[in-house]
Amino acid sequence: MRGLMMDRPLLISSLIDHAAAAFPDQEIVSRTVEGRLHRQTYGQLQRRCKQLANALAALGVEDGDRVGTIAWNVYRHLELYFGISGIGAVCHTLNPRLHPSQLVYIINHAKDRFLFIDLTFIPLLQSVAHELKALEGVVIMTDREHMPETALENVLCYEDLVLSHSDQLEWPEFDERSASSLCYTSGTTGNPKGVLYSHRSTVLHSWAIALPDAADLGLATCLLPVVPMFHVNAWALPYAAAMTGTKLVLPGPALDGESLTTLMSAEEVTVTAGVPTVWLGLLHHWQETGKNVPSLRRVLVGGSAPPRTMIESFEKEFGIEFRHAWGMTEMSPLGTVNVLAPSMRSMADDERFAVKCKQGRPVFGVELKIVDEEDRPLPHDGKTFGEVKVRGPWVCSAYYRERRSASHDEDGWFATGDIATVDGGAMMHITDRKKDLVKSGGEWISSIELENLAASHPDVAHAAVIGVPDAKWSERPLLVVVPKKKRSPTKQEILDYFKGKVADWWIPNDVVFETELPLGGTGKVQKARLRELYAQHGAQQR
Ligand code: AMP
Repeated sequence: MRGLMMDRPLLISSLIDHAAAAFPDQEIVSRTVEGRLHRQTYGQLQRRCKQLANALAALGVEDGDRVGTIAWNVYRHLELYFGISGIGAVCHTLNPRLHPSQLVYIINHAKDRFLFIDLTFIPLLQSVAHELKALEGVVIMTDREHMPETALENVLCYEDLVLSHSDQLEWPEFDERSASSLCYTSGTTGNPKGVLYSHRSTVLHSWAIALPDAADLGLATCLLPVVPMFHVNAWALPYAAAMTGTKLVLPGPALDGESLTTLMSAEEVTVTAGVPTVWLGLLHHWQETGKNVPSLRRVLVGGSAPPRTMIESFEKEFGIEFRHAWGMTEMSPLGTVNVLAPSMRSMADDERFAVKCKQGRPVFGVELKIVDEEDRPLPHDGKTFGEVKVRGPWVCSAYYRERRSASHDEDGWFATGDIATVDGGAMMHITDRKKDLVKSGGEWISSIELENLAASHPDVAHAAVIGVPDAKWSERPLLVVVPKKKRSPTKQEILDYFKGKVADWWIPNDVVFETELPLGGTGKVQKARLRELYAQHGAQQR
């Protein structure tokens, strides 16, 4: 027997309509690329989204067309999120930090018809525009006053475009499984792959990420996503903010410690979100200047494993809850969140911070298992590690315009490429990316665990561990260290620090010092680049 409930489609336009109806006066504050601070309400945002939607239709943008964005976290980008998807087109966010040749590949692969770009990215686009095959026009996200001279062809001014159209529009209704937005994975090897989200996956994911034991969003929350709107749609937090009436503060291009601290303090931000590299910078700024953000209750962290020292600094020095989550572009991105069960709160610091380094439990909507190389499920004993596989309504079922995916199995599980243990309390702990594990004499060594230890050395600012070729053991760990300012630890001091803390055979063979680590487009350490740089290192040592 079928239930007798209405079958209303879950559409992104309903999120912005709901925000305008239920929280018309809640604010969205944005630092603009032009420099000033811009304020608007959800009511005003909805009207501007409708003007934009009418403008897109007038440009000839149709159902399913891809419209690209190269933009910071600014209010016009937010308007594009809702305006493009609202009319059934696909909002394709592009990462400006990628190599230009990768950008060209992605824009051509997606067949973007129009690109909406911030002023900052005009030179970038000018350098590649002649290679973009499907591109019909470029909209510069500024007003008439700030419109620059440009060699780009078919250029429009965002404000002229939006303001010349009416805000009267009934959003079209269509199948909730229709494509809504598109993000390409960072793809350290091979070509980037497109993950094509649907309206349904986005709305369901919003419900999940807004829950108390995830981002905990609502009217009382003031959220500043540092995570870029071009990195998995800022973890899809802007959609969830509209769903829950969360006040949004968008930092624009000013992402240094001082600018973030000033904006967060002025707007009384309560929750912020980003990758560990961002928090490393902010923590250093606070430690150097004695400043912090008194209103800040929680920092959401994901994208790569945060060092334990970072978790301890936020919680012990500044009294800010550090909430560790795991996910990926293919998962919209939310997979697991680490929230301590009541019984864990009384744990001694040492044990509690060890638990907080884990990536957490799956949220409802994500099924998760670990498997061995023959795809057999492994026990949840906190010791046995295997590849994480996931399944759920906001996990990608295939890549955009790829005929087959080696990552999907017949039962619909997606192999994440992450290696983890799961303990009896369902807490997942990532030990490595499959391709980053170091295999020494047939045994695996966790690079994340070694990096974590190195980062707890008082003279170490940043650390990465890679496997380098070794004649006897096939691979051995090499530690790359960025020392803290004005500190110059020796190799031996760092290696001695590992003694007694890990098995002797885990201790890296050598330490090399660098002034910085190569970071990818989303702020993660590029281990593939380090492996290239140090490919000969093992050979030289012998
Ligand atoms: P991306 O799709 O660029 O966001 O990258 C997803 C990958 O980042 C995952 O497959 C993990 O390897 C890594 N990752 C994300 N969150 C975490 C975390 N909390 N700890 C360790 N690795 C993470």
